[in-house]
Amino acid sequence: MANLNRRHFLAATSGLVASALLPGAGLARAPQIGTTIPGWYRFPIGDIEATIISDGLLNLGSANDQFPAASPDTIASILKDEFLPVSPMMLEQNCLVLNIGERVVLLDSGMGRDAMFGDQSGRLLGNLSAAGIEPGQVDDIVLTHAHIDHCSGLVAADGTLNFPNAQLHMSQADFDFWTDEAKLSGEGSQPAFVKAARHNLLPYRDRLTFVTDKAEVLPGITAISTPGHTVGHTSYLISSGNQSFLNVGDVVHHYALLFENPGWAFAYDTDPNQAAETRIKLFDMAAAEQLPLIGYHFPFPGLGHIRREGQGFEYVPIPVRHG
Ligand SMILES: [Zn+2]
Repeated sequence: MANLNRRHFLAATSGLVASALLPGAGLARAPQIGTTIPGWYRFPIGDIEATIISDGLLNLGSANDQFPAASPDTIASILKDEFLPVSPMMLEQNCLVLNIGERVVLLDSGMGRDAMFGDQSGRLLGNLSAAGIEPGQVDDIVLTHAHIDHCSGLVAADGTLNFPNAQLHMSQADFDFWTDEAKLSGEGSQPAFVKAARHNLLPYRDRLTFVTDKAEVLPGITAISTPGHTVGHTSYLISSGNQSFLNVGDVVHHYALLFENPGWAFAYDTDPNQAAETRIKLFDMAAAEQLPLIGYHFPFPGLGHIRREGQGFEYVPIPVRHG
């Protein structure tokens, strides 16, 4: 009797499942939409209204190529624990807009039209507009550094400024290094990076201010010199009321690999040893002060804290809020 009932039940349910999956069976009339979450996220830092604008994803190929000094077995083991593939290693690009009251400030600007790291980037302008911010409203652009994935959203392919009313703020060391004509010839990715920096930075030359370590760039935004990834890489401490918030830029790229192993060299570091020293120093500070922060390349929207974990550190994402 029990077997008979079970057989009847299976027959009945398999019929239901089959009819639900059949096209035209009448249970799924609405078309699938195919889009994901909006490419922006808004949150407060004291009185500042902050909006993270995604420029989309970068495809960096195999993680083994990006961390050449690390053991492939260790990379594979960490990424397996995170349910991530070794290849492709995908990194987000989280640009940050700060409405500080008197000014609208954009930190970093993505890949623009450059497809060096795939076709899922270059979405800054579209996502800005979706977030209700027009390029003409941006008063200031602050760069962490002059790499191709941070400065390429500034100027359109035809040379037109994407942000016609904006002043540019960045370190002189990075401006001089990455716009240096002599570096247009050479090996590896450097010539392409220099070409992109020259295309995007030189048109802003007459509206450029250099930032200096520990000095206020704009009200509530203080530069922290964090060299190594590039010669003039700069992080920014943002303060409003009694709240502080850290924009680390590219002091760290991968949230799983480089927190556990902050000493690892990253392929695009200009000075990998200095980058590691800087990373550990900034992680120490952020962990000790329990600073909320944003990582440009962390999983969207890129907000979290750093805590000490064993010999290294750990990234703890801040849950997104709605309403
Ligand atoms: Zn970057």
